[in-house]
Amino acid sequence: MTMLRANTQRVLKDLYHLRSIGAYKTGVHRPTLSANDMIARKWLADQLLAIGHKTTIDGIANVYGRAPADGPIVLAGSHIESQNHAGWLDGALGVVYALEAARVAKETGIPGGVDVIAFADEEGHFSGASFLGSESFAGDISEDAMDGSVCRSGRGRLRDLLANAGLASRERVKIEPERYAAFFEAHIEQGQTLETEGLNIGVVTSIVAIWQYRITFTGIQNHAGTTKMAIRRDAGKALMGLWYRIEEEFPEISGQHSVWTVGRVKLSPGQPSIIPGSAEMIVQFRDAEPATLDRLKAKLYELVKEAGECPCTATIENMGESKPAQMSKALQSTLIDAAKIHAPEKWLIMPSGAGHDAQVIAPLIPSAMMFIPSIGGISHHWTETTCDEDIAKGAQVFVDAIGRVMSGG
Ligand SMILES: [Zn+2]
Repeated sequence: MTMLRANTQRVLKDLYHLRSIGAYKTGVHRPTLSANDMIARKWLADQLLAIGHKTTIDGIANVYGRAPADGPIVLAGSHIESQNHAGWLDGALGVVYALEAARVAKETGIPGGVDVIAFADEEGHFSGASFLGSESFAGDISEDAMDGSVCRSGRGRLRDLLANAGLASRERVKIEPERYAAFFEAHIEQGQTLETEGLNIGVVTSIVAIWQYRITFTGIQNHAGTTKMAIRRDAGKALMGLWYRIEEEFPEISGQHSVWTVGRVKLSPGQPSIIPGSAEMIVQFRDAEPATLDRLKAKLYELVKEAGECPCTATIENMGESKPAQMSKALQSTLIDAAKIHAPEKWLIMPSGAGHDAQVIAPLIPSAMMFIPSIGGISHHWTETTCDEDIAKGAQVFVDAIGRVMSGG
């Protein structure tokens, strides 16, 4: 078996170059379809053309390079845009690792090849989809959905920004599942597990589902000075009661990796001298186990019923229940085999608490995800970073694992 070895200096050089495009403090500001995002996409397309890949930036700004090769083909990639004023490695790491795997596969002359993809808008700058680029590649985005999609930070309609970037008339590339032996995505962990345990590599077992609900309380709006406490129907107070009950009850029934968040609360009319007549909260929870998700949901509905008995009424609305995505067991083993060589006893199997493009691709072809540590677990902030040694080690594991799949082992 030919072992593929990454050129880690080249990996770091590419990552530093991407960091210079839209640099913001020690991070980057490269929102989807911004001028700097398009510079980064063109840079990637040029690198892929340079190794002979048939390359396009398609009608939704996915950068896709096809290896001119016979034999087993692996698809690899991630996203290249950033959150606003955010980290330099979130997305870019997986794209550069994929590019390196493609280069090394070509240089080694191993049969087969590595197709590279940088999905558009994994970070969700545009409305209408969770993962615009990968869902388009998977065939899940309609023309109508694109028509209605707008930038959440007010940069305009998706269609207009695609037109400005010169992509309006381009086809959107769709995945050919039969072409691929596997999909590989690498990413920074965006959490603290690897760093805390002194480990280098996370082999992802599954990507969690996100279930989200809007709960609305209705009471009676009244004067904050003249309305006696005994007769108040304070929707804000009812909301706080439910929040407290969630924090009491969820730890009793949650799984080892469950997380839950009340990320948004709105009191109406929201004035210091008015008792809130209505109140709204959004409750989100995440887990990879369907049974745990069902349990948390049943408990939430039970608590909402309890909270709405008196003196305010409560209603709950389902805002979305995504499916957990399982990573291929065989590919997890492949990543572990590679980790045992390059990071012996420094790897861990773990679920992903964050969403990733791999969850969209996993139902279509066997998929694998690998994490490297994030210093301090910081992510979606410009201070996000990872040390060069960890980046280099991750590149070796990633490229080696892809080589193993191409060699059939
Ligand atoms: Zn990311």
